Amino acid sequence: MSKSKRDISTVIIVSRDQQQSRSLRIPTKHIYRLKHYIAFVVLLIVSLSCAVFYLHRQNQHHEEERQRLLRQVLSLKQQIPEPDTVNRAQVYIQGIEAKLKKINSYLTKRGLKGFSVKSVGGVAADTSLSEEELYSSYDDYLARVLTGVAFTPMGYPKVSDLTSFFGYRGDPFDSGRGEFHPGIDFRGHRGDKVTCTANGTVISAGWMGGYGNCIRIRHANNYETLYGHLSKINVKVGQKVKVGDKIGAIGSTGRSTGNHLHYEVRKNGKAVNPISYLRLN
Ligand SMILES: [Zn+2]
Repeated sequence: MSKSKRDISTVIIVSRDQQQSRSLRIPTKHIYRLKHYIAFVVLLIVSLSCAVFYLHRQNQHHEEERQRLLRQVLSLKQQIPEPDTVNRAQVYIQGIEAKLKKINSYLTKRGLKGFSVKSVGGVAADTSLSEEELYSSYDDYLARVLTGVAFTPMGYPKVSDLTSFFGYRGDPFDSGRGEFHPGIDFRGHRGDKVTCTANGTVISAGWMGGYGNCIRIRHANNYETLYGHLSKINVKVGQKVKVGDKIGAIGSTGRSTGNHLHYEVRKNGKAVNPISYLRLN
């Protein structure tokens, strides 16, 4: 075989039994280049395989990334409440807190130790609290307000008109000089029920000089209430009573000019004006 450009080689393909044969005429240069052709084809196949493998991996990676981002978005969505809900909740919380502070101030005026709502800023303003801590601190606060309300004398021991107020007044027995009236008097009929104005313990129940038949009840925070001139006493010393319990009946026993209830509120043993304790505000 010559190497000239026009050189043509004949390739004869013979079957195994040598019965058939075929001849191919190929330019001789191609036969010399056959190794190169094969190498090129092999390289091409390898390159394409690598490209397919690479694209497949890329695709897989992108899908994983997409799934990861999707999960992240979902979890973030769960974490962030709707802005409207947050704002509305905040408004309600601030409203509740303002009312609690008001109740707290009413109780503080009556001599109770003020309790903090994580004041001064209030619970709602304290962003360091988690939602659970926030609600639990309100729960705690409400429980304390509730105790304050239950154990502070408040309201009427007998719902009726007042006939005599706290302070100096003319002596009803007309001895010619003024006297200090340490409580308020409620109009009433003999036998009308008298109820206690706060939870507490009966510390005296019986005759007590000018007060006649008299009940004294001790409450929390050094409070005491006194109910005088009773016709009947329904409680015993040491008995625990709840606000609203019937403890006795109106009468005119002791230094009294007619059927009425004499009611006193004492704080640290000193009579205070019960009028401040008839209403919460
Ligand atoms: Zn009186």
